[in-house]
Amino acid sequence: MTDSPLRGSPNGAAPSNGGERDVPDVTIIGAGPTGLFAAFYAGLRGARTRVIDSLEEAGGALTAIYPEKYIYDVIGFPRVLAKDFVAACLEQAERGAPDLCLNEEVTGLERLDDGTIRLRTSRGERFSKTVVVCAGVGAFEPKRLEAPGVRDLEGHGVHYFAKRVADFRDKDVVIVGGGDSAVDWAVTLEPVAKRVTLIHRSKFRAHEATVEELARSSVDLRYPGWEVSEVHAGGNGRLAAVTAKQADGGTERIAAQELIVAIGFVADLGPLKTWGFELQRNQIVVDIVSMATNIPGVFAAGDIAAYPAKFKLIATGAAEAVTAVNHAVTFYDPKARLDAGHSTNIMEKKEKEAKEPRVVAAAD
Ligand SMILES: Cc1cc2nc3c(=O)[nH]c(=O)nc-3n(C[C@H](O)[C@H](O)[C@H](O)COP(=O)(O)OP(=O)(O)OC[C@H]3O[C@@H](n4cnc5c(N)ncnc54)[C@H](O)[C@@H]3O)c2cc1C
Repeated sequence: MTDSPLRGSPNGAAPSNGGERDVPDVTIIGAGPTGLFAAFYAGLRGARTRVIDSLEEAGGALTAIYPEKYIYDVIGFPRVLAKDFVAACLEQAERGAPDLCLNEEVTGLERLDDGTIRLRTSRGERFSKTVVVCAGVGAFEPKRLEAPGVRDLEGHGVHYFAKRVADFRDKDVVIVGGGDSAVDWAVTLEPVAKRVTLIHRSKFRAHEATVEELARSSVDLRYPGWEVSEVHAGGNGRLAAVTAKQADGGTERIAAQELIVAIGFVADLGPLKTWGFELQRNQIVVDIVSMATNIPGVFAAGDIAAYPAKFKLIATGAAEAVTAVNHAVTFYDPKARLDAGHSTNIMEKKEKEAKEPRVVAAAD
């Protein structure tokens, strides 16, 4: 779980804030499995692609809700952990060289008079020739810990995403939560940190084997019935301690230079509802042939897309992504073929073109 590419900071190009417009061919909203496959496929089709996701990590529901669960019904994997599947999807998506913009929420979408699509995001404005919405059940974000002092210390010792194990070396670390992510981080950091304390209200919901590993470790457990009631800054303005409170009212002040909050995620479809889509029970109605929405140049795929006999599965999302991308390509380039053929042929052709130097006609 350390230094994984999925835990990277936003690496996308900065939004165009008033300067020259950067207008990629395809922008994908959502870096869940559908969005990642759409990014790969758009790259295969030669599209310049951007992916935007509100989360700090790619993977959508698999990363936010069930990273440690096994998946059995995706093609080519008889059984695969959700987080490992995401890693494979990301590796595949990277072949398409998308501009991956994480930690950025799309809050608005409108089609301009010249046909360009303008996206308003939490980082500014972005533009695109076409958009594929792969937004699942909405923008995921971590549930915030509601305790005095927490907001002020976010980024100064309070983390919702832990990124690198090395950042916690020889530190007093407190972790809050009882799911896979909290327990995983507790056992991962235990050999590295000075002391790890895990605070949780009820029973652990993590993978059985990791909970057993936790019980064998030296992690200080404050559970069940414990929660963080306050966090305290030191003289340097960074986190110095947390106060943990027991259900019976007893409190304990625990030294902490780092606090990892892993109490789950919430999804918000909110902004998307106001973009002018035809909606049906929190999904965007699409044309079953093309995955086109009612907004020209905007397509949808994956859990967000609604059509008769829809299955909300990773496998079907991938198929919808192919349909959506192929139609997006012919939307911005009407001369392009709708069906470009198999990846085997497309890749062979690309590799051949890369090897053969282009003959440029000499000027007279
Ligand atoms: C517990 C559980 C187990 C499951 N098991 C299986 C299984 O075994 N097999 C299977 O096939 N399926 C399974 N599913 C369903 C599967 O997870 C979904 O079908 C799949 O995640 C859909 O992928 P998606 O990319 O369409 O959406 P999501 O995975 O939901 O990803 C959508 C992404 O879009 C981002 N986003 C949304 N709105 C915005 C915005 N406005 N701005 C920026 N980013 C935005 C979100 O942050 C999110 O990262 C399971 C689901 C759950 C909850």
